Amino acid sequence: MTTWTSSNLGYPRLGEKREWKKALESYWKGKLDKGSFQQQIRELRLDFLKKQQERGVDSIPVGDFSLYDHVLDTSVMFGLVPERFDASEGYSSLSTYFAVARGTKASPASEMTKWFNTNYHYIVPELQNAKPRLVDNYPLKAYQEAASELGIEGRPYLIGPYTFLKLSKGYEDHQFEQLFNDLLPLYEKVLRQLQDAGAKSVQIDEPAFVQSFPETDIPLIRKAYELFNREVPELDLFVQTYFDSVSHYKDIISLPIAGLGLDFVHGKEGNWANIQNHGFPAGKVLGAGVIDGRNIWKADVKATVAFAKDIQAETGSEHVEIQPSCSLLHTPVTTRHETQLDPLLLDALSFADQKLEEIDLVTRTLNGEDTAGEIEENTAQLARVKNAPWRQETAGNATGDIPSSRPLSFEERSPLQQEKFQLPKLPTTTIGSFPQTREVRVERRRMRKGEISAEEYETYIQNKMQEWVDIQEEIGLDVLVHGEFERTDMVEFFGEKLGGFAFTSNGWVQSYGSRCVKPPVIYGNVEFKEPMTVKETKYAQTLTEKPMKGMLTGPVTILNWSFERNDIPKKEVAFQIARALNDEVLALENEGIEMIQVDEPAIREGLPLKRAEWDEYLEWTVHAFRLSTSSVKDTTQIHTHMCYSEFQDMIESIRALDADVISIETSRSHGELIETFETAVYDKGIGLGVYDIHSPRVPDVEEMTQMIDRALRVLPSSLFWVNPDCGLKTRDVPETIEALKNMVRAAEEVRKNL
Ligand code: GLN
Ligand code: ZN
Repeated sequence: MTTWTSSNLGYPRLGEKREWKKALESYWKGKLDKGSFQQQIRELRLDFLKKQQERGVDSIPVGDFSLYDHVLDTSVMFGLVPERFDASEGYSSLSTYFAVARGTKASPASEMTKWFNTNYHYIVPELQNAKPRLVDNYPLKAYQEAASELGIEGRPYLIGPYTFLKLSKGYEDHQFEQLFNDLLPLYEKVLRQLQDAGAKSVQIDEPAFVQSFPETDIPLIRKAYELFNREVPELDLFVQTYFDSVSHYKDIISLPIAGLGLDFVHGKEGNWANIQNHGFPAGKVLGAGVIDGRNIWKADVKATVAFAKDIQAETGSEHVEIQPSCSLLHTPVTTRHETQLDPLLLDALSFADQKLEEIDLVTRTLNGEDTAGEIEENTAQLARVKNAPWRQETAGNATGDIPSSRPLSFEERSPLQQEKFQLPKLPTTTIGSFPQTREVRVERRRMRKGEISAEEYETYIQNKMQEWVDIQEEIGLDVLVHGEFERTDMVEFFGEKLGGFAFTSNGWVQSYGSRCVKPPVIYGNVEFKEPMTVKETKYAQTLTEKPMKGMLTGPVTILNWSFERNDIPKKEVAFQIARALNDEVLALENEGIEMIQVDEPAIREGLPLKRAEWDEYLEWTVHAFRLSTSSVKDTTQIHTHMCYSEFQDMIESIRALDADVISIETSRSHGELIETFETAVYDKGIGLGVYDIHSPRVPDVEEMTQMIDRALRVLPSSLFWVNPDCGLKTRDVPETIEALKNMVRAAEEVRKNL
């Protein structure tokens, strides 16, 4: 007899109407006193647990809730607060906690970075001079609260020691083992206190196990879990992996743990191969992540039940836990408040609350309950969506007729472009956006509310463009941009104008801290409907003799920052977007915009967690970019931009994009990037950002001259562009002008010596 139970791995923090965000921000602004804030937060926390309980989840995680970020919670639990912060109110006090997360006047915030391959950002633990000690056992508090307030026997949530350390910075490779050893007794203490309080099991997240990690780390991992198993024998240790299949599976399943959770959605093939090749040990609970925790589509319940049975049959497991593929942190809360969507589309959606209901339905079915009626309803819903007109293949979606390479090579077309544009050496430009001041956002809101007419808004945007063309002319930049004042966001703007995209009212997902994003939903075939950027760009071009660079978001970035349909392969969606963008590129060119930048910050971000999958990924992402940009005339100059600086391993792919000019973010790790170019040859136009736009600090001419000089030691001056390292949207006007003036002066200085 197989036991089937259900579990959840984490619940969104935002609240159905972003109550969490509102409480946090009111508290930060001083509009909510500490007592009321804590009261509101407590109510939310309990409400989230209750909602999971009502949906029949057998194992509910407790302690996954956070006031900002679960990685920061772990750091604070271990007293890992960087020395620059004032911790006089206690390491785990609200003031210290938020200071690390958000910074103070005196001390910059800790860095944040992406949580694996998601769009969630965590606060990077800083381990320089770390003296970890247990200062606050928050999983214990969460466990006790759930038990006493709601009678819920929760499963405390922890980030495992291996993953925690892998995500931290401030140490050298050779210090890893020592730091790991220092952390183990603290984990042991946390676990022991949980055991003493009566907890029966814990969820220990080790997503780092799905990355390609060195085999030499296995003895360390083994040592940790052996220690926990020996010292806290009453507590069932559930190790949870997600986002891909487990690497070194054989070693991981043989750890002395009570259960292992596997992602059978995003690591389906790999984990299936894992269980086929190595089985699953008798006596351990198998966590089967079969409901997609990262997308928003309704599950096929019938197929999921069958798949769960296959997994069980393959492994012979006696106890299988049905789970989401990862924490539901990465999905919006509920479809309940979506009233604006096409009913057919709404019918296709499943957010966190609905996913828990699916998990419950799958589990009840597996337990032999008669659920035929519910399953039939699910099957019928799926069929309706599948037959929806917007899901049908159309001839217009094919990309076979669009060129994916430019007729001339870079060497051949580059002189033609130079003849056309007559740019000086080391041309200066910017990445696209100029400060989106409060005033710009207020005008947009007024237009949306109907307080000003569309014409009035258009005039406002035109005046902004005029203002900034004048500023750019005065500064002396060589290639101008229109400033992106009409755009809210680089993906939403395009999604709103393309066919196949829908926008939810409440589909918010946490991006970092209280910052949420509402990714568009790509529900059907993506189609070009009408020019999206031509009007503004063309207008801006009339204001200057200098080239006006058109500004588009690339296919992979639009895809990665949206919820994509899952009935066709992801790359097909990318190609459809590419086709639409190709139409836009040609529309711009047709109107005389012959320098066009197609931003692709997400190509780097979306790299698979496993090295072995990089080639395939890079091949289709590069192809999508090329489909969008290869139809232009030889004299049209294609630019691209990426925000990351870790390119060591993908220079080949960057070259394969065949963009005439690429600009990349570098200033935060300038040295490292330059090193990359010492060993790899890059032979197309390139702008390594010469100043960091993420900080309000204005670098002086000298500093930027040095940056340029340094880069010119490894890159030919004929290919080098001078630009800031990203868009200037988040900066203030005065600092932007001052920094750009210095940048142009620096370029002039260096030119003198060429
Ligand atoms: N063109 C965009 C801007 O300047 C690029 C933003 C980005 O790279 N994230 O804002
Ligand atoms: Zn950028």
